[in-house]
Amino acid sequence: MTSNPPQSDYLSAIFSAARAAHLTDPMPSAELRRERLFRLETALLKFEPELVAAMNTDFRHRSESDSGIFDITIPLGDIRRNRRSVKRWMKPRKVGVPLHLKPARGRIIPQAKGVVGVISPWNFPVYLAVAPIAAALAAGNRVMLKPSELTPKTSEVMAKMIANTFDPTEVSVCIGGVELSQEFSNLPFDHLFFTGSTRVGREVAMAAARNLTPVTLELGGKSPAIIGEHASLDYSARRIAFGKVANAGQICVAPDYVLLPRNQLEAFATAMETAVHSFFPEGPQSPDYTGIVNDNHLNRLRDLVADAKAAGAEVRELLPKNTEHAKGKMTPTLVLNPPKDSRIMREEIFGPVLPLITYDSPEEARDFVNSRPSPLALYVFSDGRQERDFWLNGTLSGGACVNETAFHVVADTMPFGGVGESGMGSYHGKAGFDQLSHLKSVLIQPKLNGAFAFNPPAGGFNKFVGK
Ligand code: NAD
Repeated sequence: MTSNPPQSDYLSAIFSAARAAHLTDPMPSAELRRERLFRLETALLKFEPELVAAMNTDFRHRSESDSGIFDITIPLGDIRRNRRSVKRWMKPRKVGVPLHLKPARGRIIPQAKGVVGVISPWNFPVYLAVAPIAAALAAGNRVMLKPSELTPKTSEVMAKMIANTFDPTEVSVCIGGVELSQEFSNLPFDHLFFTGSTRVGREVAMAAARNLTPVTLELGGKSPAIIGEHASLDYSARRIAFGKVANAGQICVAPDYVLLPRNQLEAFATAMETAVHSFFPEGPQSPDYTGIVNDNHLNRLRDLVADAKAAGAEVRELLPKNTEHAKGKMTPTLVLNPPKDSRIMREEIFGPVLPLITYDSPEEARDFVNSRPSPLALYVFSDGRQERDFWLNGTLSGGACVNETAFHVVADTMPFGGVGESGMGSYHGKAGFDQLSHLKSVLIQPKLNGAFAFNPPAGGFNKFVGK
């Protein structure tokens, strides 16, 4: 009787082949990197219909704009920017050296690290796999991807797309569940790029630490939206509603809860209802409204709402209930004033449910945010500069928007990442290139017969620097 080789052998074999291939060309040329990125771009365009259909199956229903914009157009933009800019980013960077080391010169040389492991989540199953791959290829690395088991059809199509496009030593896809992912994160990668929950991120970081593998952790958390004392409620409600109902709230940077002045609670709740109605006049069965990925998550969301209601919060469904189901969908729901220690205020929501919490003074609200783990994003709605600065300077978050939600993610001129429990490291555009390159400092000494070089005893050096 023969038994299948353990998964770890299969993963190790792919890893070793990628590492060996990397060592044959440890500093791929700009032309080769651009060509690899071009192949990725062409593949994404070619497989777009299959990927969109797979996401529609995996989510029970995925709106065309959620799939088309977030999972295809945005990563295409990332790939294209990387392709246009990689030659410039790769150039050695001139840096000054202290006077006592002159005439030596300083250079920073961005160098490929080797083999990068990418572990991706289910909520934007293509974007959050392809964008790290595009950054890793721009930086000259080989890549192994482990996509989510919760979007199996999409993972299958991505595996086919990558196998059709790349030699397995350039990019490969490893399909499997949590057990395989654990073995994947035990590989001695040259960098491990993880996107997912804070709980799993912690486990991945511990596995990587055993190999001293550097990690980027793109995690989640509870991102607050704060309504300033003089903000326009209609405008704020529309922007917050957008951030909360796109992809049915299954977005790492979705506003998780709203903090607002006590006397504006009712007006804001009404403005939210108006905004959501105008987005989905047909109700939750609208083809523009995405489903919840599976029944476990749907039940988890319903439990969060039920728990808050039992604890005394008022619950308002924002679209008429009789138009729901549409299997697998959840009506956008407001939860007014849940207790601050209830489950819904402790756990990341990751769905179309929005708690509203009132404050009596901005200081009280700021202290509330600061008493919790640093969020991935923070959204301030205000027309006053002083009020904005109060929030932006008085809190720590991975990123922030003023009078907007979520769109900072799309500006690939800015690093995107978390802080504290919402993650470490960042990517997008040049930040991604730098994150997945080794920035090697090189001091170049002109020979000049050694006239300026320091020799023992070291006392000469001390005198020179004035000690
Ligand atoms: P998850 O942490 O459950 O899973 C993410 C990936 O990790 C999956 O591929 C999974 O197979 C793998 N995995 C699960 N257990 C593992 C283990 N013990 N060891 C190694 N790998 C393991 O996250 P999810 O449910 O897929 O995604 C939702 C979470 O991701 C939310 O918290 C959300 O905020 C976060 N997220 C963050 C970003 C960001 O850019 N910061 C983007 C999207 C999602």
